[in-house]
Amino acid sequence: MQDIYQHIEDHIDEHIETLFRLVSQPSVSAQRLGFDKAPGLVKEIFESVGLETEIVPVPNDGLPSVYGHMAGERTDRTLLFYTHYDVQPTDPIELWESDPFRPERRGDRIYGRGISDDKGNIIARIAAMKAFNEVRGGLPCNLKFFAEGEEESGSPNLPGLIAQRGQDFSADACIWEGGGRNASNTPFIYLGLKGLLNVELSISRLSGDAHSSLATVLPSAAWRLLNALKTIKGDDDRVLIEGFYDDITPLSESEDAAITALPDETEELRRIHGVSDFVNEVEGEALRRKLYLTPTANIAGLTSGYQGAGFKTVLPAAASAKMDFRLVPEMRPLDVLEKLRKHLDRHGFSDIEINMIAGVIPYRTAMDAPWVKLVAETAEEIYGLKPEITPNMAGTGPMHDFGHGIGMPIATSGVDHPAHNIHAPNENITIDDFLLGAKQAALIIQRFAERGAE
Ligand SMILES: [Zn+2]
Repeated sequence: MQDIYQHIEDHIDEHIETLFRLVSQPSVSAQRLGFDKAPGLVKEIFESVGLETEIVPVPNDGLPSVYGHMAGERTDRTLLFYTHYDVQPTDPIELWESDPFRPERRGDRIYGRGISDDKGNIIARIAAMKAFNEVRGGLPCNLKFFAEGEEESGSPNLPGLIAQRGQDFSADACIWEGGGRNASNTPFIYLGLKGLLNVELSISRLSGDAHSSLATVLPSAAWRLLNALKTIKGDDDRVLIEGFYDDITPLSESEDAAITALPDETEELRRIHGVSDFVNEVEGEALRRKLYLTPTANIAGLTSGYQGAGFKTVLPAAASAKMDFRLVPEMRPLDVLEKLRKHLDRHGFSDIEINMIAGVIPYRTAMDAPWVKLVAETAEEIYGLKPEITPNMAGTGPMHDFGHGIGMPIATSGVDHPAHNIHAPNENITIDDFLLGAKQAALIIQRFAERGAE
């Protein structure tokens, strides 16, 4: 592989230039900013390495995906790269030291919105493909490259697209976004993501706000909502919705061992969030297990009455709360929604309305899959250290659509590092992280061509 690695290193200036071009083009899905040009630029970059590329419309007039494919020497083996070309909004803009859409280099870091998440991953993989083309005259296996345009907005139209066109994107195995190194420079891989149910609970009890002197006789929407919320979770943090935990699948032996082997994040989380005690006083391994393996019932927002300057003696007519439930395999958003409705009814809160805002199904690739072993070996070879493997992360993403909907094992590799400030001001990446990510992508392509995912 030295010939391929050498090519990636020799062409680093060119790769960074391409990355700068891509980062210079805004593509903020939350604001639908820059999508007149962004898909076309991604298509152009895909085509520059020989991918036969199309801009793929998604349902509901959503922001398009870009999809390319290319045949290689082993035509019976197909690898899929999942990435996204949309980025997070740049707020708070005043905390950026340079224009987020005018990437610049300061020392050994380059800065710009999306330069790590996920445009850095896109170009690192393009760099690997380019090396195979120019050094070996083509790829050793078939490759499909999918770049989503709405990931940072919760992939609302991806399930619809997969339902329509899933088979076009099918492959023997998939490399997701979001791998690289952690704070101690150990490579990390994750195999799954939590699902999500977003709802709004609301109640209206009066035709309009009333004078608060009437609180003796008029019903309070705010208290009513609080009492309903109080029935959802106990003081011990256990969710009290009947049957809420029923569909959780226990970890396999190897998944369990992987969680045990992960490093202790207790002190780092303490420092970052300024807390002394965690929920239920968990620490160390217990903290990891709670963080990665248990579902949540979180209140994301509460609204009622007057919260402005001074005081207003008002009895608010209405109250609402936004809640997100992070789900672990094999919980299902619609099932949890139904259980929540039944729970509120059973506790006498039929008057609380529930409006579902979004749902994502959780997903986890089996730890024992040969694909996981292959990707872990490439990480160890490139980074020189055994990777830490997390069965599923605390966050959410549309893995289920590919892993289950289309059907393929999924693992991650990439250019990430906690110092990259993804989703935050001054997003950055080091040239080193980029090179390592590109080389690992190349090695994965090679090993997959040799061994397949079986
Ligand atoms: Zn991302």
